[in-house]
Amino acid sequence: MQHTIAKETEIKGIGLHSGCETTLRLKQAPENFGIVFKRTDIPSQPEIKALYSQVADTRNCTCIADAKGNVVATIEHLMAALSVMEIDNLLIEINNQEMPIMDGSAYPFLKLLQQTGVKEQKAPRRVLKIKKQVTFKDDKGNQIDLYPADDFAIDFTIEFPSKIVGRQNFSGKVTADIFAKEIAPCRTFCEKYQVDYLKSIGLIKGGSLENAVVLDGEQILNEGGFRVANECVNHKVIDTIGDMYTSGYPIIGRVVASKTGHYHNNMVLRALFADASNYEIR
Ligand SMILES: [Zn+2]
Repeated sequence: MQHTIAKETEIKGIGLHSGCETTLRLKQAPENFGIVFKRTDIPSQPEIKALYSQVADTRNCTCIADAKGNVVATIEHLMAALSVMEIDNLLIEINNQEMPIMDGSAYPFLKLLQQTGVKEQKAPRRVLKIKKQVTFKDDKGNQIDLYPADDFAIDFTIEFPSKIVGRQNFSGKVTADIFAKEIAPCRTFCEKYQVDYLKSIGLIKGGSLENAVVLDGEQILNEGGFRVANECVNHKVIDTIGDMYTSGYPIIGRVVASKTGHYHNNMVLRALFADASNYEIR
């Protein structure tokens, strides 16, 4: 059956790029409503569906927009937590254009949803079953594939020149238990030179060692180092789970990706839905 949350709840934090404090109000929503963001700081209070077709920018995060250009940025970490908690219907009121970054992981959102609880609804859940291999490859050869499978599984590989990251791989089924223990706590990561550049062009005003792992050559600048051994690739798994949930359904299929990001995730979903013989919704 479909699910919404058991009761209304709220969470606050600062936006990574704007540095502004943002409040999220999560409200129950009826069957077949989907995941919808509502910008309460704009007089018309526009609602934007968290769907791949609404994704307008994938450069530093997944950003959705309506036809008038009203946006909500950085939805992917909350989307990952919603996906794993099997929440189908939710209204998310947000009073800013950017989601709170929290600690850079999906854990604060997962914890909030676990504490709030999930309510079963009266309509059956529908799933998106991958029926054929679907590929998106960029001009650098980085590739993401969707394959038919019996469960939702991810195989993700990253490779960084820094030895502290190097080559990391996550491969397997994404169960609620594995997500909570090994994936949700994994933070966004970046290199110090990227931080310096983004700050210089007025971005990541809210960025700090409180909400990202920052690498400087062979060093981690965060006290305490990594939270889990493969924190970097596991964070990419969070992003992939969150982005795949913009399909509007839980996916039954295997995602195989190497050195890809939000752009590739969105493009492979667009390729999937471009041909009805690629999938089945049931
Ligand atoms: Zn992320």
